[in-house]
Amino acid sequence: MRKPMNRSLARLEPSGIRRINALAAEHPGCIALALGEPEFDTPASVREAAKAALDRGETHYPPNNGTLDARRAIASHMAEEEGLRFAPDEVILTDGATEALSSTLAAMLDPGDEVIVPTPAFGLYESIVRMHHARAIPLDTTHHGFQIDAATLRAVCSDRTKAIVICSPNNPTGCVLDARSLDAVARMAEETGAYVICDDVYHRLVYEEGVERFAARHPELRAQTVIVDSFSKPWAMTGWRLGWVAADAEVLAQIAKAHQYLVSSAVSFVMPAVQTALGIDPAPAIEVYRARRDRVLAQLAFMGLPVVEPKGAFYAFPSIAPTGLESGEFCERAIREVGVALVPGTCFGAEGHVRLSYCVSDEDLDEGMRRLAAFVAGL
Ligand code: PLP
Repeated sequence: MRKPMNRSLARLEPSGIRRINALAAEHPGCIALALGEPEFDTPASVREAAKAALDRGETHYPPNNGTLDARRAIASHMAEEEGLRFAPDEVILTDGATEALSSTLAAMLDPGDEVIVPTPAFGLYESIVRMHHARAIPLDTTHHGFQIDAATLRAVCSDRTKAIVICSPNNPTGCVLDARSLDAVARMAEETGAYVICDDVYHRLVYEEGVERFAARHPELRAQTVIVDSFSKPWAMTGWRLGWVAADAEVLAQIAKAHQYLVSSAVSFVMPAVQTALGIDPAPAIEVYRARRDRVLAQLAFMGLPVVEPKGAFYAFPSIAPTGLESGEFCERAIREVGVALVPGTCFGAEGHVRLSYCVSDEDLDEGMRRLAAFVAGL
């Protein structure tokens, strides 16, 4: 008889987002406000850089951690952008932020360790943690405007806490962590010795000045901080599978081993496009998203669905409490009855909400919001 496979993995459910997308695909004409990627194309100059690398024959195994040129470009970009000082040897190019998170957690976790995940949260964190026979401990932020409350954080930390994952701006709420939240995380990291994993993939997509990053505010915790970043969202490069992880040399050395065993390296011929992409200012895309966000907020207010104002990314996470429906039923009925797809809050550990993405064309967004309003009005 066949032996069971990884029991922790077997217990993981397939992503609920996939179920919603499959249901939406069964309804022709359904408008998907459920996606997590820009509808723009990768800038032409970035595509040209990769094509030129292919034409030069850069199709061999690259250095495991990425080419020195690409790591230098990232290190100086981080320094110029926000004064985050990492040597090129403290950077690894990864297969997207997804692999950066997998390699980081693989390098850190022992069975039975706990990782604090403030919810609502991107589902990947919990899945990776559980695959490593560790526990994801949710920290509910819904009653604190999606901010991290120091006392609530303290209550979920223990001597088993290995890491705290933060994501600002957040997927699915679009909220950015304020100084008090960042300081609360820093205090607990200091007291427990836990790592702070900063999923910063949306940090360039913010709608106001002065949004602080954890690593910039708390340089004293450099030895415990890991930064995960990606080319996917600011430069519309989701299919390139290109991201990076930056951390203090000793921590990075362990992550490098995990990275090597998991994937060996990122893709060779996309690495020469790193510098080109980093040189492109995503400001025009941000202005487009900001205008859409403002329309979404106005329309949600009209529908009577409360929402905490998103300050970044391209998501809103309204409460559906006034409708009296659970989020799964709300989303399934919205697809079947009016042809608009949203993602249930349960996919992010937060019942009573739905995630609405506004990284779609203006026409689709307006029509999708019109359908949503009709659905809510008819409940
Ligand atoms: N982190 C967050 C918060 C995300 O929303 C996503 C993708 O949606 C990722 C990481 C993964 O990004 P990548 O495409 O770089 O793997």
